[in-house]
Amino acid sequence: MRLRDKVALITGAGSGIGRESALLFASEGASVVAVDVNDEMGGETVALIESSGGKAIYTHADVSKAADCKQMVRAAEETFGGLHVLFNNAGIMHSRDDDALSTEEDVWDLTMAINLKGVFLGCKHGIPALRRAGGGSIINTASFVAVLGAATAQIAYTASKGGVLAMTRELAVIHARENIRVNALCPGPLRTELLMKFLDTEAKKQRRLVHIPMGRFGEAHEIAKAALFLASDESSFITGTDFLVDGGITAAYVTPE
Ligand code: NAD
Repeated sequence: MRLRDKVALITGAGSGIGRESALLFASEGASVVAVDVNDEMGGETVALIESSGGKAIYTHADVSKAADCKQMVRAAEETFGGLHVLFNNAGIMHSRDDDALSTEEDVWDLTMAINLKGVFLGCKHGIPALRRAGGGSIINTASFVAVLGAATAQIAYTASKGGVLAMTRELAVIHARENIRVNALCPGPLRTELLMKFLDTEAKKQRRLVHIPMGRFGEAHEIAKAALFLASDESSFITGTDFLVDGGITAAYVTPE
């Protein structure tokens, strides 16, 4: 078991990458704190883990709120006695996120509050707990759009993920001597609800697919496997990296037919 005796807190655990990671981490021995704002979906994740013999609790927390982030970390320590893995994964892609000219300020502010400030708050309140546990691993979900211009305009999302990547590097350097590793996970386009709702026409889907050498969207469970590697001691000398799991999209200039 690759996460035996570890406590892992995962935000956005009600769906997509977060849920797949929660199930995988639990199956590798972790006690999981599943965090979400969607109580039904978050509860379902916990039920799935428990039905296969794993350990998990659900905690409602909006990652854009400091008090909620404080509380989710407290829940980990109170229920499972510590925190070793912090997966700041919750994020949104707003349907009205577009180019700089047409994106409204409220869309920008909400996207930044969840995608960027949410990661900051997770670290602000999670790092003291990781210190108390003697160290640990932080994984921040960024995106391939943090390193590559997206062909479908989503200015707020892209800017927020660029921030996550830059913040991750600094966190990694500052906390390296505390036995705390911090890595950004950069998924390529996935066949999850988040992206499929945004690419809501076949034309938009094709516009994205044409750039992916593998010619398909990724699956959430493929990202969960990368997260597991970063969470576990197998990645013990890896910190500050932008870990791309993207079907080759960032390596491509033109894609083969
Ligand atoms: P998803 O929509 O399936 O899951 C996101 C989860 O986060 C949902 O359960 C949602 O309820 C929760 N959430 C939303 N706002 C929250 C908040 N304020 N506080 C707590 N939880 C909140 O999405 P996903 O595809 O699994 O995405 C997970 C992460 O991966 C996001 O950060 C996303 O930006 C990133 N990502 C996704 C893709 C993709 O193609 N799907 C690609 C690159 C990066």
